[in-house]
Amino acid sequence: MRLLIMGPPGAGKGTQATAVAEHFGIPAISTGDIFRANVGQGTPLGVEAKRYMDAGEYVPDEVTNNMVRSRIAESDAGAGFLLDGYPRTLAQVTELDSMIQATGHQLDAVLVLTVDQEAVVTRLLKRAEIEGRADDTEDVIRRRLEVYAAETEPLIAVYGGRGLVVSVDGMGEIADVQQRIFAALDDVPES
Ligand code: AMP
Repeated sequence: MRLLIMGPPGAGKGTQATAVAEHFGIPAISTGDIFRANVGQGTPLGVEAKRYMDAGEYVPDEVTNNMVRSRIAESDAGAGFLLDGYPRTLAQVTELDSMIQATGHQLDAVLVLTVDQEAVVTRLLKRAEIEGRADDTEDVIRRRLEVYAAETEPLIAVYGGRGLVVSVDGMGEIADVQQRIFAALDDVPES
């Protein structure tokens, strides 16, 4: 299975991505997590990414694309993967198309979690308290939502045009959302 999970910041993508990936026996690859790990280790990639992340802006496509390209070339992703947080721009869509095409495979589905905007802000502020992420202050949260609306939301229509979008209501209890996701993905044929 080659899957994407999409939705605004705070939609619960990370939590659900882990469960879905486990279910299908594929790695959940989160670009945000990879960036954060690099920031934590103080790698050159981390130093560069941090500037953008702290401001709620996207890390430049070239940096992000190269990182994803090498990650999905690793052996554990040979039978498939679930990408969380990538692609986020139209240029990244094109890049991902070429990466997948080069392996002779195709994308199976794009899972879209739909949520209420204000609920998302509340959720993110709560997460900020618990995790202390540098990009979870209210100003940065609002900026991240703006960037999402401008740069990433249009991707849903692109994938919708390809018949790949599986929309799931992301509001409510984690376990309930998970059940909805599994029910929706049951109908997706594996390529
Ligand atoms: P996330 O944990 O997915 O919300 O990502 C945290 C931050 O990492 C984002 O706000 C961006 O600064 C950066 N980031 C993650 N994925 C991407 C991507 N595909 N393109 C550009 N920046 C990204």
